[in-house]
Amino acid sequence: MGSYLPYYTLAEGAPLPRNDTIKQLSTGSGGGHVLLTSTQLIEQLAHFSRERIPERTVHAKAAGATGYYEVTDDVSDITDADFAHGIGKKSDVLMRISTVGPERGSADTVRDFRGFAVKIKTAQGNQDFVCNNQPVFFVRNPSKFPSVNRSHKRNPATNSSDANMFWDFHVNNQESTHALMFLFGDRGLPSSVRHVNGYSGNTYKFTKADGTYHYVRFHIKTNQGIHYFTNSEGAELAGKEPDKHILDLQDAINTGDFPSWDVCVQVIHPNDIASAPIDIFDMTKVWPKKQYPLRKMGRLVLDRNPSNWFAEIEQAAFSPSNMVPGIEPSPDPMLQARMFAYPDAARYRLGINYTFLPTNAPKSEVYVPTERDGRMNFTSNYGDDPNYVGSKLKPMNFKGTVHRSGQNGHPANMMKTLDQVEVTTPITAFTTVSDKDFEQPRALWEFMAKQDGAQERFINNLAAHVSGVTHKMLREQTYEMFGKVDAKLGEDLKKTTEAKLEGNHAHPHKTAWH
Ligand code: NDP
Repeated sequence: MGSYLPYYTLAEGAPLPRNDTIKQLSTGSGGGHVLLTSTQLIEQLAHFSRERIPERTVHAKAAGATGYYEVTDDVSDITDADFAHGIGKKSDVLMRISTVGPERGSADTVRDFRGFAVKIKTAQGNQDFVCNNQPVFFVRNPSKFPSVNRSHKRNPATNSSDANMFWDFHVNNQESTHALMFLFGDRGLPSSVRHVNGYSGNTYKFTKADGTYHYVRFHIKTNQGIHYFTNSEGAELAGKEPDKHILDLQDAINTGDFPSWDVCVQVIHPNDIASAPIDIFDMTKVWPKKQYPLRKMGRLVLDRNPSNWFAEIEQAAFSPSNMVPGIEPSPDPMLQARMFAYPDAARYRLGINYTFLPTNAPKSEVYVPTERDGRMNFTSNYGDDPNYVGSKLKPMNFKGTVHRSGQNGHPANMMKTLDQVEVTTPITAFTTVSDKDFEQPRALWEFMAKQDGAQERFINNLAAHVSGVTHKMLREQTYEMFGKVDAKLGEDLKKTTEAKLEGNHAHPHKTAWH
C-alpha cells in the first residue's frame, strides 16, 4: 500500500485509465442513467461512507509526531528496563498530545487538561507513558472516572457544555479541588503542546531481577519552558486558528526546531511508604519534590511529522498496561482501572487486532498464538501452531525453547512483589474527603503568590466558568469549596463571579437541570 503504481486500479488491482469512471446509458448528451456495473464509482461511494472510525470518547483532538528516547542517565540500580540502560541508547518514539473533553473537530486553545501519551518501541516490547500535563487527577476512585469526564462534556438534554453539571460534580466530589487548581491556573491553557510537561500521576514500580523494587512517578519535563495563553487569547485563537497546536508542532519540526523533554522519576523505597506524608497511590496528591527529588533518566525528542495523520496518529492506541520488564503496576487503583479501560477502548475503536497496525506494532518479536483470528487479521495467523495452552508439541513458529518466567516475563506475572504490598499496605476505598485534600491545593495557591499576577488570573479564569452556573446554591457551594483552600480565595471568587453576573446582562442559558 505504501508504493504507488503510475496508473489507477480498483481496490482489487484491476488497472483503469482514470479514477473517475462511471458507466451510463447514453442519451447523446452528458446525462444518462448510471449502471450498477460502474464498479469504480460504487467502490468510491461505499468507501466514503465508511471512512470514519469511532471517535475517542475522550482525548479526541490531538497533535502528534514521532522521534526517539535517548538514555542520558544511569538508573540500572533501580530498574532492569532494557530501553533505559546504556547512556546514549536510542529507541523509537510515538507521541500524541491531546485535549480531553472536546471532540475531534474542536479548537486547540481551550482550557482543559492535556493528554500526553508516549509509546517507546523497545527491544522488549512497547513501553507506554500515558500521562497528563498536570501531576494530579480529579478523582482517585476509578468508579468516578466516566462520571468526571461526562460532567466536563455535554449536557445529555441540551447537547451543550454546561457549567451546572461541571460544578455539580465537583462540589460533590471535592477530592478534585487540587486538579481544579491546575485546570484554572496558567497551565490549564497551554500556548502549544511543545510547552507542556507530562506527568504519570499514577504510581508505578521499578523492579530488578533480584526482587528489589521501588515506587516511581514519571515527570516528563519540557525543555521549551512552560508557556500559556490567557482566556481571551485562547478564545480569539479558537476562532482564528482552531488547529493552532497541531500546526505549531508541525511547523517546529519542519523547521528543525525539534522539541524535547527530560524524562525523570521520583523514587520511594517500599519501606518508606508508611512515613510518606501522603498516600503514595492517591492520584489526587503529588509527591513533594523536596522529599522525593526528580532523578533524570533520559530525554524524548520529536523530529518527524507523520506522513499520514490517520495511519500514524488517529490509529495510535496507548495504554498504561503496556509495560516492559523492569516496570510494573503498583496498587494504585486508578492505574489498575486505566490498565483495563485503555486497551478496551482501542478494541472498540480500532478492532481486536489493533496491535497489528504499523503505528502500534512493537519493533520486537511478538508470539501470542492463543490470540488468533478476529477481524482484519492480515498476518499469517500463526499457521498450524497450537491455539490452546498447555501443548507439548513444538510450535512451528516458536523460536524460543521454554516459557519465559520471572523478571523476563510480562509484569503481570510478577505477583510476588504485589502480594507483599497487599499485606503491608491495605488500600483504602478512597471515598472520604478530608482536610488533607486541601493541603496541597493550598501549597499550590501559596506557590502562585510568588508568580506575578498568577492568583489574580486564577480567580478570573475560575469566575469566568463559575459565572455560567445558573443554580445559585451551586455557586455558593463552589465558593465554599475554594474557601477551604484559602478563605480569601473563596471570598474573592464570590465577589468576582457575582460582579460578573451582575455586570453581565447576558444571563447564562437555562439548562435542563436549572
Ligand atoms: P515545589 O514547591 O518544590 O514546586 C512547585 C512546583 O509547582 C514547581 O516545581 C512546578 O513544577 C510547579 N508549578 C510552578 N508554577 C506552577 C503553576 N502556576 N501551576 C501549577 N504548577 C506550577 O513543589 P512541591 O512538591 O513542594 O509541591 C507544592 C505544590 O506544587 C503541590 O502542592 C502541587 O500543587 C504543586 N506541584 C507539585 C508537583 C510535584 O510533583 N511535586 C508538580 C507540579 C506542581 P514542575 O517543575 O513540574 O513544572
